[in-house]
Amino acid sequence: MLLDKHFGCVRFVYNYFLNERKEQYQKNKKSDNYYTQAKTLTDLKKKEETIWLKEVNSQALQFVLRSLDTAYLNFFRGNAKFPRFKSKKKKNSFTVPQHTNLIDGKVYVPKFKEGIKCIVHREVKGEVGKMTFFKTPTDRYFVSILTEEQYQPKKKTGAVCGADLGLKDFLITSDGNKFKSNRYTKRYEKELAKAQKHLSRKQKGSNSFEKQRRKVAKVHEKIFNTRQDVLHKVSHQLVSDYDIICLEDLNVKGMMSNRKLSKYIADASWSTFVRFLEYKADWNDKKVVKINRFYPSSKICHVCGWINQDLNLSMREWTCKNGHCLDRDLNASINILNEGLKIIGAELSDYTSGELSKTSFGKHGSTKPEAHLSLANG
Ligand SMILES: [Zn+2]
Repeated sequence: MLLDKHFGCVRFVYNYFLNERKEQYQKNKKSDNYYTQAKTLTDLKKKEETIWLKEVNSQALQFVLRSLDTAYLNFFRGNAKFPRFKSKKKKNSFTVPQHTNLIDGKVYVPKFKEGIKCIVHREVKGEVGKMTFFKTPTDRYFVSILTEEQYQPKKKTGAVCGADLGLKDFLITSDGNKFKSNRYTKRYEKELAKAQKHLSRKQKGSNSFEKQRRKVAKVHEKIFNTRQDVLHKVSHQLVSDYDIICLEDLNVKGMMSNRKLSKYIADASWSTFVRFLEYKADWNDKKVVKINRFYPSSKICHVCGWINQDLNLSMREWTCKNGHCLDRDLNASINILNEGLKIIGAELSDYTSGELSKTSFGKHGSTKPEAHLSLANG
């Protein structure tokens, strides 16, 4: 199948040129850049033993060379780990940067004259651009389509909030809005733990191991999708309702939980959530303020400032030395808001009943080019 041929060739090119760079570096302490490697790629296509590279979209091959180049640059700038070889067992993908189209439920890219039939999950608006094809470890095929369109930013509401990751709910705002966690996630987590336990008992490389590995991957996929869904909904809602959103830059509560798996997932989803919120805020000219992770938002009484050193995770409600009764999560989110407002230089006195005077708002930075792009998963 031509799609699989693309996944294979792109992986081959990536691994071939990563290996080339590694070997060159070991020998000469330097390695070829993108342009030199692109020339080598052209030569490879002429060679008998690698002539099959001609059968796939040439731009997809060049694109993966560029990705390798970027991965190298990111590594040398200290922004990423050293690039690793691509494995067939992980998610396979390739990107077609140009000459793409979507007509009547069919995706058209060079080398696929008949088009590729697909189910469109979300309406594709605007001009169709770069397309990325995926194959999941469960052998499902996806394409995500980048489109360009004029974006209409959301209206200013004049409202600000602090947001805290709740222990019971996913998130609670300083004005008392609660967002529930996805109710399926818990069930899937149990399913995952069970499936992984089964996998650990299988002999590596055996047929039943392979079968169980796919089962595990399927549960991972389900958890990932339901989580992404919640994170998108909540971040969308916050950006619609508030102009300034303050939050902690790290999920400290998730880190305190001692179950390894749930800790891992909670951490991952919090940082993804912050990422979603930040780019959505950026699109809509709204502001996200991050609070220092060591700020004791849960322990401070937001009314009088008294610090409760004995607060532990099981205490949902507590009373401070001066008799203020506090809901744990709500109190934390109010403290986060106050701290956030301090950070952006807004005096607390300017803040009255959820409104912020225009002067203390501060100017928002210019919108990035991505602000005009929207992703549609096909
Ligand atoms: Zn108090």
